[in-house]
Amino acid sequence: MGIVYLTGAGPGDMELLTLKALKVIRKADVIIYDRLANPDILKETKEGCEFIYVGKEDGKHTLPQEKINEVIYQSALKYETVVRLKGGDPFVFGRGGEEGIYLKERGVKFEVIPGITSAIAVPEYAGIPVTHRGVAVSFRVVTGHEAPNKLQSQIDWNSFKTDETIIFLMGYHNLEKIANKLMEIGKPKNIPCAVISKGTTNEEKTVIGTLENIAQKAKNLQTPALIVVGKVVNLREKLNWFEE
Ligand code: SAH
Repeated sequence: MGIVYLTGAGPGDMELLTLKALKVIRKADVIIYDRLANPDILKETKEGCEFIYVGKEDGKHTLPQEKINEVIYQSALKYETVVRLKGGDPFVFGRGGEEGIYLKERGVKFEVIPGITSAIAVPEYAGIPVTHRGVAVSFRVVTGHEAPNKLQSQIDWNSFKTDETIIFLMGYHNLEKIANKLMEIGKPKNIPCAVISKGTTNEEKTVIGTLENIAQKAKNLQTPALIVVGKVVNLREKLNWFEE
């Protein structure tokens, strides 16, 4: 029986891969990968390495999670070194935890290799620090996948404090609903917002607006994209280093 490495691939820029991840990728007998992982990483594998794509396109599941778990498990029965490669960090909305539990229940050894998460690195490449002295003392990473009008929401919308930075992942298609909801709970409508598309890659694009107009301004971006809400967005005026 092999060992499975639940591995973070970083947010896009291939050089944001960790040395530890690169080491297991070079050793891998099989790579089970997502849409979000930079495909150039696959060029680092040894000859004969098998590739299994289990990515999900914009919420549409190519394979249900249960099937992905099974693919990983079956690979561990067949190969010595199995790399489950995921965009960003495997435990930040990456379902790496579920995969780990599934393997543990079947007696398969696994290790987790953290990755640089898009939640922090993508704003960073856009010149937006998620915290900044005197501007934001905390940040939250929230799923934007759940429509804000959903009954029995798991998100406590009323708890969002004015000066906190909020980062929504998987929220691009709900952008208008999210912005409306935040205004509804009393966030000022002129709070700055950014939507960053394909962050840390050569195709990175950032649109800046306010809660009131961001949905309109950012409507023609491509995914993956994330949303940043908070005054830290203004720092981009001085810190935008990558897109320039
Ligand atoms: N585990 C990943 C996140 C998975 S959820 C991580 O730690 O980064 C997928 C969401 O991440 C996307 O819907 C998008 O909101 C965000 N995302 C991932 N890569 C991105 C990128 N390069 N640019 C912008 N957003 C990105």
